Amino acid sequence: MDVSNINTTNFIEDFVKQDIEEGAVTGSIQTRFPPEPNGYIHIGHVKAMYVDFSVAQKFGGKCNLRFDDTNPSKEDNEFVEAIQEDIHWMGFDWDKCVYGSSYFDKTYELAVEFIKKGLAYVDELTPEQMKEYRGTLTKPGKNSPYRDRPVEESLDLFERMKNGEFADGTLTLRAKIDMASPNICMRDPTIYRIMHKKHHQTGDKWCIYPMYDFAHPIQDCIEGITHSLCSLEYEIHRPLYNWVRDNAGLPAHPRQIEFARLNITHTKLSKRYLRRLVEEHFVSGWDDPRMPTLCGLRRRGYTPASIHDFLRRVGIAKADSVVDIQLLEHCVREDLNESAPRAMAVLDPIKVTLTNWDEGKIVYLKTENHPNHPEMGEREVAFGKHLLIEREDFMEDAPKKFFRLAPGREVRLKAAYIIKCEDVVKDENGNIIELLCSVDLDTISGSEGADRKVKGTLHWVEETTAQKIEVRLYDYMLKEEENEDEVELEDEEETEVPVKKDFTDDFKYESIKVMKNAYIEGALKNAKVGDHFQFMRQGYFVVDKDSTAELPVYNRTVSLKGSYKPE
Ligand code: ATP
Ligand code: MG
Repeated sequence: MDVSNINTTNFIEDFVKQDIEEGAVTGSIQTRFPPEPNGYIHIGHVKAMYVDFSVAQKFGGKCNLRFDDTNPSKEDNEFVEAIQEDIHWMGFDWDKCVYGSSYFDKTYELAVEFIKKGLAYVDELTPEQMKEYRGTLTKPGKNSPYRDRPVEESLDLFERMKNGEFADGTLTLRAKIDMASPNICMRDPTIYRIMHKKHHQTGDKWCIYPMYDFAHPIQDCIEGITHSLCSLEYEIHRPLYNWVRDNAGLPAHPRQIEFARLNITHTKLSKRYLRRLVEEHFVSGWDDPRMPTLCGLRRRGYTPASIHDFLRRVGIAKADSVVDIQLLEHCVREDLNESAPRAMAVLDPIKVTLTNWDEGKIVYLKTENHPNHPEMGEREVAFGKHLLIEREDFMEDAPKKFFRLAPGREVRLKAAYIIKCEDVVKDENGNIIELLCSVDLDTISGSEGADRKVKGTLHWVEETTAQKIEVRLYDYMLKEEENEDEVELEDEEETEVPVKKDFTDDFKYESIKVMKNAYIEGALKNAKVGDHFQFMRQGYFVVDKDSTAELPVYNRTVSLKGSYKPE
């Protein structure tokens, strides 16, 4: 394969290109995306997805979707379908869709081979003893007293483990490597454990399950993976990956390459943390629009293009770093600025009555849907005697620099006329409930006064034709800007979910604000779930799935302006 014309854009592509040029890989490039179906995928997983699929694509290769389901305790079919949907939504498609569990027979067979070759043994140490024997970073481990038991004995015990003769946690199969290795992963890691648990694919067939470190390289070999790409925490596991691969005796020779995890400010990219938010009802579900899950981002109004753009800008590096969440917002703002039709919505209304306009007279004013895209067409905006404007666009005692509406002052209504506030109506408590305005009929576009300049332009809706909506505004879920992600691998302690003291302290309860008395122009009555709009002066919004015919619900994806300045 001639790759001289391929321009690489990151170090992984450099590696792959070099492997092809040096003849280390002769066939086509094959990668895999290996999500564990134990939750919905978050934007960190999307980075991995992006890396796996785009590297294969670049070199004319293929990427498999492999459900890493070797640990049955938390996995579920619900997540399998959701993950497939998410991958398609991002615009990727897999070559084969496979399950790690479909290799259980082969993995078991190979484990037996490892025992026969003297590379694995059945151990009887309790988990506590095993921990004690493992040593520390500065102290070598000790050999288990069962390490040198005869091969026949290990073979017999392993088979009986498979047949269900022993309880969970009693026996394990361990690789025989080196208890004094400076790399703790190499100190006789567990490769099979007993778990009497029904598996979502294999049912009750198995009561022993392989560990990730044993199963993954074997699966990669079976599928002919050329490059096994994963996040940085697997770097110290690479010698073990290579050890299993080289001893498995399978023809393939996959190479593991690690890349930086994605971390984002005000966000915690950890499935177990997100699961707690869901299960303890901090959020409405995995797709709560504040969640960094792909379904949450989608519901919030993020587009696949904006997420691609974000990942491209973040890039693929070797060292971990934390990305400003405002970069993500910037990307969706840029995308929606181009693609979202414009419209008007009033989130917190006050009534405006035009004193010199006939009761019942409605005119329809033609307005472009997008200032830069005439091909997006025009819509008709109703105008009449009764209007609504934003409450904060009026001030009774306005300072000079307040270029919005105030007694005696004029503003232009976007796409319509100039109006002047002549008087206000107050309720018995002295609150202003209505503004009485005159309209200058010469100021509509096309007429003589169309160019007459006033300082402020306001958005508005015509009250009798407007559609009442609910608007949901969001803020960051976490108060802290930086959050340590607890990255935990399978063979580390998996007892209790670490409960950080500040788990609830850091959650911002006021991160959702619901506006229950908002209105959109009647032209939007037929908007469908998932439709995006830029509401003038308010930001970008998307129609939410909670919408009903009577009450559409809109989520604010992002405000119009951010302080983020990309380099
Ligand atoms: P979590 O800790 O959130 O549960 P995980 O690593 O257990 O994540 P998997 O479903 O096993 O979740 O991961 C699928 C792939 O996504 C793996 O290749 C993993 O390396 C990668 N991945 C997970 N989190 C991130 C992240 N924050 N940035 C980049 N890649 C990630
Ligand atoms: Mg995992």
